[in-house]
Amino acid sequence: METLPDGASSPTAGRYPASAAELDRRARALESLLVERGLVGTDTIDRIVEIYESDLGPLLGAQVIARAWLDPAFKQRLLTDATAACAELGIGGLQGESLVCVENTASVHNVMVCTLCSCYPWPVLGIPPAFYKSQEYRARMVVEPRRVLAEDFELVVPEDVEIRVYDVTAEERYFVLPQRPAGTEGMTEAELAALVTRDSMIGVALAASPPRSSA
Ligand code: FE
Repeated sequence: METLPDGASSPTAGRYPASAAELDRRARALESLLVERGLVGTDTIDRIVEIYESDLGPLLGAQVIARAWLDPAFKQRLLTDATAACAELGIGGLQGESLVCVENTASVHNVMVCTLCSCYPWPVLGIPPAFYKSQEYRARMVVEPRRVLAEDFELVVPEDVEIRVYDVTAEERYFVLPQRPAGTEGMTEAELAALVTRDSMIGVALAASPPRSSA
């Protein structure tokens, strides 16, 4: 039986903070060097961060997933050629030239990792979270995914469900089509999109359950 950590405010709290702080220091050092040498301006960096925090990012991915849940033909196109399907919704560009969407089912759970660095489908998911870039996640997810999901993300995948780990590269930028949660019949695309979290598209979480009606 798998045991879960308790007392953590978020599933990853306490597990990755050291590497996150280290990544933060490294990024800041790199940024000051680039600025100091006149290679890039701070406003350029701020603008790029802003673009990926508000204009792009997980909200766009959530739209794609909600559309796939509602429209079987779109879902088929998404699973066949995610780059083209996302382009139908005006989503694509930098770091998203070759998107690949993999579907979670009752018998398969998919999760993504970049073992080499932090390749990520930016146009649909935005900027990769700190845990995704951590050495620990990258090393352990390929070796013991079931345990990492349970211990670090409080996601216990039933033993009879196969876990497939996708190594994201510059050539193939995977993201996950999570299973549509129960009790979402009749929900609009926008309501469905609100249930699709970034983590559910990485595969370290399920899509959220709908809020319970007070009626
Ligand atoms: Fe990479």
